[in-house]
Formats: sequence, structure tokens, C-alpha cells
Amino acid sequence: FNFLQYKKEVSVIANPTSHRIDPLSGELTGATGHYSKKLSDMTGLYADEISFSQAVERGGDAIIYKVSDVRPNAAHGDLIFGTTFMEPGRIGNEFFMTRGHIHAKANRPETYYGESGEGLMLLESPEGTTRVLEVLPRQMIYVPPFWIHRSVNIGSVPLVLSFCYPSDSGQDYSIIERSGGMASRIVADGSGWKEVRNSSYSPRGPLEIARVYE
Ligand code: MN
Repeated sequence: FNFLQYKKEVSVIANPTSHRIDPLSGELTGATGHYSKKLSDMTGLYADEISFSQAVERGGDAIIYKVSDVRPNAAHGDLIFGTTFMEPGRIGNEFFMTRGHIHAKANRPETYYGESGEGLMLLESPEGTTRVLEVLPRQMIYVPPFWIHRSVNIGSVPLVLSFCYPSDSGQDYSIIERSGGMASRIVADGSGWKEVRNSSYSPRGPLEIARVYE
């Protein structure tokens, strides 16, 4: 056992850490990053623009979702992990959702884990194929590389998820804006939900698809 060698290693490697998640509030102990999105930040996201304007007038500064995370090291090979808390609600018949993104390095994956509430992960491939996965408490969702992803709160209580992804992934929100939103929307259907086509959507062309896979 070489103590000097040991000391040297400890000085260059990070300290292990432990973090507690409150499944109802999404509070993450030791979180170093926080951001939140208000309804007024979500202009253009929802199909029903009149209902959206009315909801903003009624309380546009209300926070719809907030994210807490830990980013130990930006270097390739490390991880970012954290929690998302999203209020329940709808604009017209469309459920509250996150803006959605693809990773700026599109071949980076992610996991999501249901902490509380009832949610969906809406996924879309660059070619426009969609998948919808339910996220209930204690359920783990794998988002493979190259999938655009967004979470949706289909319940009547807050949706809390935890997540983990490679630290060099980055987020590209513009891919969704350029196509007029994601290919489908999640709307109320009686007491449940259904996936409907987004009439504003225009599919990506071969060049843009090729750029995603580069
Ligand atoms: Mn992501």
C-alpha cells in the first residue's frame, strides 16, 4: 500500500456524494442548479392559443415546472442528475408539459424515474415516429440516443420525476421549434388521455435528419 500514491489519487478524484429526493416536492438535497419555467415562458407550445392567452392573463407568472440538478463535472464521462417538478393543469384540452428537447450531442441517452404523480414521456425520432411511455411512481424510463423527449403531467397532482444523463449532452430546444412542435400532442380524453396529431407539425427533411445523426 503506497500512501503517497493514495493521497495523490484522492486529491484528483471527486468526493462521492449522497442526495435525498423528496418524492412529493422534488426537493433534492445538495442540488447546485435550479431553474423554473412560468406559463408565460411557454408561448407557442400549446395548440389552443386563446386558452393560453387567457391562462397567462389569469396568472402568467405561475411556475409550471422547475428543475433541480447536480452537475459534478462538465467533462465527458461524468453525469448530471436531478429532479423535475411539474404542476397539474391543461391549456384547453392539452396537458401541461415541458418544452422538450433533443440532446445537443444527439447520441447521448437519459433515464427518467417516476417519483410521484402520473406522467407520460412523449418521444419522437428524427424521422417523426412517436412513442408514448407512462411514467408512474417507481417506474424507470430509458430515453435512447437520438430521441426528442418531453414529459407531460396527465394527473391531477404534481408530477415529480428524477433523471440522469451524460454531462456533455447539452439541450437543443430549436429542433422542436423548427418543425412546428412535436409530431403529436397529449390531450384529455374523458378522464384519461389520448395522443393526437399536431396539425402545426412539419416533418424534418432528409438533410435535417442526416444532420441529427452526424
Ligand atoms: Mn434530456
